[in-house]
This record gives sequence, structure tokens and C-alpha cells, in this order.
Amino acid sequence: MSTPLTPSRPPTPPSPSTSLTDTEDQRDLRAAVAALAARYGRDYFQQKARAGEPVRELWSEAAKLGYLGVNLPAAYGGGGAGIGELATVLEELGAAGCPLLMLIVSPAICGTVIARFGTDPQKQRWLPGLADGTAVMAFGITEPDAGSNSHRISTVARRDGADWLLTGRKVFVSGIDQADAVLFVARTEDARTGKLKPALFVVPRDTPGFEYRPIPMELTAPEKQFQVFLDDVRLPADALVGDQDSGLLQLFAGLNPERIMTAAFTLGIARHALDTAVSYARTRTVWDRPIGAHQGIAHPLAQCAIEVELARLMTRKAAQLYDAGHDLAAGEAANMAKYAAGEASCRAVDQAVQTLGGNGLTQEYGLAALITATRVGRVAPVSREMILNYVAQHTLGLPRSY
Ligand SMILES: Cc1cc2nc3c(=O)[nH]c(=O)nc-3n(C[C@H](O)[C@H](O)[C@H](O)COP(=O)(O)OP(=O)(O)OC[C@H]3O[C@@H](n4cnc5c(N)ncnc54)[C@H](O)[C@@H]3O)c2cc1C
Repeated sequence: MSTPLTPSRPPTPPSPSTSLTDTEDQRDLRAAVAALAARYGRDYFQQKARAGEPVRELWSEAAKLGYLGVNLPAAYGGGGAGIGELATVLEELGAAGCPLLMLIVSPAICGTVIARFGTDPQKQRWLPGLADGTAVMAFGITEPDAGSNSHRISTVARRDGADWLLTGRKVFVSGIDQADAVLFVARTEDARTGKLKPALFVVPRDTPGFEYRPIPMELTAPEKQFQVFLDDVRLPADALVGDQDSGLLQLFAGLNPERIMTAAFTLGIARHALDTAVSYARTRTVWDRPIGAHQGIAHPLAQCAIEVELARLMTRKAAQLYDAGHDLAAGEAANMAKYAAGEASCRAVDQAVQTLGGNGLTQEYGLAALITATRVGRVAPVSREMILNYVAQHTLGLPRSY
């Protein structure tokens, strides 16, 4: 009989150490958010999602505790920390079964862009609300005829006296029904060259000419996606974020936080799915021992735990680079983190569902809905193919293929 190399002990759910990658403050934040999210839990979230209702109670409690605006400047009521902290909040909410998609959009993209590039009145108008969660802003860049090729977007803003007139179409804009306004990416004409260049506009939801309709999605989530019709929407001069010449810079400033947060979104879900699967595998017995004792169940779960932990490390790296102001290096890391997290979470959720057998598809365990939720991380905000294109071209120096 062989002797085990290590004494046997009860298995523990995947809860990787964060002592090397988190500061003490970040560890405290992680623990506090996890405790809050545990009070709500997967059942609360699923109930809201199935009813198509927003998770107002969780959103306002998290907001009051300062978690939702943790990345926004303290001068406007935020926590004065970084995307690393906001990603921690989102990951821990997801790990408890409550992934809040609007955190990616409202404080991370829109909050960052306005904090970095908005005029003083724009900062005063929007940041305090985004920081304390009383205001929500959606973000619209995707267009039906442009898709992944955002250079092709055709939503245009034309000058009309001091005003702007915005016309175009958008798709898959998340959470417009929960938002006070949408930050739209459009194009304006460069007075010198006549060429169209990106520019960002804040459009309050009740602006005449701005219409939106829900897209029926196979997602069980409290957030809906919308198609948008902008028909000569008249906007005041100050709807333009910052100045007209910095649209591209503003856009890029929002993209890294978006990717880091999407990674955190899917990693939280992956941790929740693995926790559920591991607890189940410890107790479910159909022969003479728990199914977790079969390597056919244990090894794939172990593999998933390793992949999730690797993706978490990459996400921490991307957040640290971004928060340290290394935008270029953060761009590469954020793309890699988003890719790694998307792949790891799709595999983890798939394996979790398999571990539960028939129960993997019941509403009681709430895992099946995560299959489509994690697929979002492979497609949005940038697809895995476009990240592979980016890495092939920019990291490896291979010729551009498209
Ligand atoms: C749940 C959800 C929420 C979203 N929320 C928002 C939001 O809030 N705001 C917003 O603006 N958008 C949002 N999106 C849109 C999302 O960002 C887009 O779906 C995504 O950018 C891909 O665009 P597309 O769907 O048009 O796919 P396409 O661009 O049509 O791509 C289709 C497929 O072709 C592949 N492909 C395309 N070009 C290439 C190429 N050159 N090389 C290799 N493969 C290629 C893609 O990788 C993909 O697999 C959301 C999407 C979803 C599903």
C-alpha cells in the first residue's frame, strides 16, 4: 500500500490567497464586499433577474458603503482609489452570485472618462451621483453595421448653431432603462481636414429623439440590452465631453477599465460556479464515495481553479499598470486579462454544470444561467478573436490580418 505524500484533509473551496497581489486595504475591501454580497446571495439575484428587475437593494447598499464609486475622485464623493479596487468589488459580488454588469459601464467607463476628460461642470453634474450610486450612466459604442470595427461607426454629431444634432443607431447598449443618461461614441467633422473623428456625448435618457427598445436576449440578468435610434437628437454644446479634439484619447481611457472590469465580472462568476461545484462534489454520493473522489470530476475542477487563478493574476497586473498610469502597457495586459478570464470562466462554468449532473441545469442551483453570462465575456466588449488579432500584431509583431 502506498503512503500518501500529504496527510489527507477535507477539501477546501477555491479561495486563492490574495496576500501578494492585494494591499491590506484591498484585502479589507475584498472581505467587506464579500460579507455584504453573501447577505444577498445567488437566490436574491436570480429572483430579480428572472423577474427582469434591477437589484436596487444591493445596488443602493453597496453604493452607500462607498463600494460602487471606489475608483472615482474623492473630491467628487468617490473613494479616491483605482480600477483595481473597483474590480475587486465586482469580482467579490460575482463570487457571491451577484455580478453587477452596470459596474463595468457606469463608474468604470463613464466615470473614468468624465473624471479624466470632462469639463468642471460635467464633473460636478455627474461624478457625485456616479460615485454614490444615485446616478447611473450607460455606454453606447456598438453599431449594427460596424460591430467589432469601431472605426466604421456612423453615428454623427453635426453642429447646429451652438447645439449638436446627433443621428445614428446603436445596438446592445446595456442598462439604458436603469440609466439617467448614456455616454455615446459618435463622430464629428474635423474642421481642418473634413475627416470624421470620434467624440463622446452625454445624452440624458429623456432627450427628445432618443429612442430605445429592448433586444430579446437569452440571458438571465437584471440588466437588459437595447437597440437605440438617434434621430436628430438636439443636444446643448456642453453635451460634448471635454473638447472635440480629444475623443480618441477619451475613448481609449475608457477601454482599459472596461476590459479589466469585464475580466473581474467573469472571474467572480467562475469562482461562484467552482464553489458551488466543489461543495456539491464533496457530498454527492452515487456509488460508495463522494463524486469529488473520482479524478474524472476532481481533475477538471482543479484545472479550472488553476486557470481562474492565473487569469486573476493577469487581471491584477492589468489593474496595477492602469492605476499606475502606464496606459500603453495596461492596454496589452487588459486585453490579455479579458481574454484569459473569458476563457477560464467559460470552462469553469461548463465544468461546474457537468459536476452537478442534472442539477447543473436546475433553477435551484442557478448554474445554467451562468453559461450565457460567461459567454458574454468572450464576445464583449471586444471579442476573443479581436484580442488575438491585437496580441498577434502588437505583442508578436505579426502582420495585420484584416
Ligand atoms: C450582453 C452584452 C452586453 C453588451 N453591452 C454593450 C454596451 O453596454 N455597450 C456597447 O456599446 N456594446 C455592448 N455590447 C456589444 C459588444 O461589445 C459587441 O457584441 C462586440 O463588440 C462584438 O460586436 P458584434 O456583436 O457586432 O460582432 P461582430 O463584429 O459582427 O463579430 C462577429 C464574429 O466575427 C469575429 N470577427 C469580426 N472581425 C474579425 C476579424 N477581423 N478577425 C477575426 N474575427 C473577427 C468576432 O470575433 C465575432 O466572433 C454588448 C454585448 C453583449 C452580448
